[in-house]
Amino acid sequence: APTPSESETIADLKERIAELEFQLAVARKQLANGSGDSAPVTSPAPTAPAVPPPAIENIVAQLPHHPTVQYPTRTVSEIKMVVVHHTGVSPTITAREIAEFRVQKNNWAGIGFHFLVLPDGTIQQTNELTTVSRHAGDQNRESVGVSFAGNFNTGSPTAQQIAQGGHLIAWLLRTLNLSIGAMVGHKAIASTPCPGTQWDSGSRWQNSLRQAVNRWLSGSAQPTVPATDTTPVQPPPSSAKTIFHYLLLGSATDQSLATNYIAKFQPTVGTDAGQAQQARYVTIVGSTVSAATEQKLRAAGCNVERVAGNSPLAIRALLDNMARTGRRFLTFQGV
Ligand SMILES: [Zn+2]
Repeated sequence: APTPSESETIADLKERIAELEFQLAVARKQLANGSGDSAPVTSPAPTAPAVPPPAIENIVAQLPHHPTVQYPTRTVSEIKMVVVHHTGVSPTITAREIAEFRVQKNNWAGIGFHFLVLPDGTIQQTNELTTVSRHAGDQNRESVGVSFAGNFNTGSPTAQQIAQGGHLIAWLLRTLNLSIGAMVGHKAIASTPCPGTQWDSGSRWQNSLRQAVNRWLSGSAQPTVPATDTTPVQPPPSSAKTIFHYLLLGSATDQSLATNYIAKFQPTVGTDAGQAQQARYVTIVGSTVSAATEQKLRAAGCNVERVAGNSPLAIRALLDNMARTGRRFLTFQGV
C-alpha cells in the first residue's frame, strides 16, 4: 500500500492529469467548433444576453440520504465546469431509485449528480449547487453534474431532453460566469464511457446539446412549444401512460421501413393497438392501420401522428429523414 505521502503525490498527479485533460478537451472543442480564437474558458462577454432560468423541480429533500455520511459543501464561485453524464440505465429508472442505490449499495452520502433531465424534458434538481457530490472523480469540488436519463451507448436523448438540458446548462454557465468550453462530457475528464458512446460517435449528441446551449447563450433560443400552439400535448392526468412513445405498424414487415427511425428514437415497436393505447405518443406507420383505430387512440388520450406515403419507399424515405434530422414527430413541437 502507498504511504500517506505517496498517496498525496498520486492524488496531486491525478488532479494535474485531469486538469490537463480538461484543458485539452477545451482546446479540442474550440478546434471542432472552428473557433480559432483563444477565448478564455471563463468570463463571457459583458454584453451577453440573459438566460432565463428553466423550470426546475427541486427534489433534493425528497431523495434518500445516508444517515451518517455527508457530502462536503462549497461556495458556488468554486464551480468551474459543468460535467454531462448519462444515467447509463433505462430512462424509467428514477432519481429516487438511483439515490437509494448510491446510499445503500455504494455507501455514498446521496445521489451523485446535481440535475437529472428526463425524456419528457423535466428537469429535476437532485443536489444543491453548494453540495460537493460525487460524480466527477477528482473534480467534484469544481464541477456540477448534469445527468441525462437513459443509456446512450445506443440511442440518443430525446429532442425534449436536448432542448431542456441545453436550457439548463446555458443557464448554469451564465449564472456561474462560465463559457461553453466549460461544458464537458464525463469521459473528457475521467476514464469512463459516460455519457455513452453516442455522445461523441454515432449520433454525436454532444453537438446537438452544444447547439441548444449556444442558442440560449446567444439569445436566439425559441420556446420549445410555440406560444401560438394551444393544442394540449399532455394527455389528461386520468389516463396515466406507461409507455412514452409507441410505433404502431400495420404489419410486422413494416418494421423494415423504420429501421433507422427505431435506432434513432428507440420507441416501443409493435402491431398491438391495445398496447399503443398505453403510450403518450403514438406514431402510426403507413395506411394499413384504420382511421377507426387512430380515432380510438386519440380518444384514449394518446398524441397520435401518422407517417404515410404513396409507397413503402416513400414512407421509408420520410422516416429516414426524420431520423437524420432528429425529428421524432412532424406535428408535435418540442418533443
Ligand atoms: Zn458520468
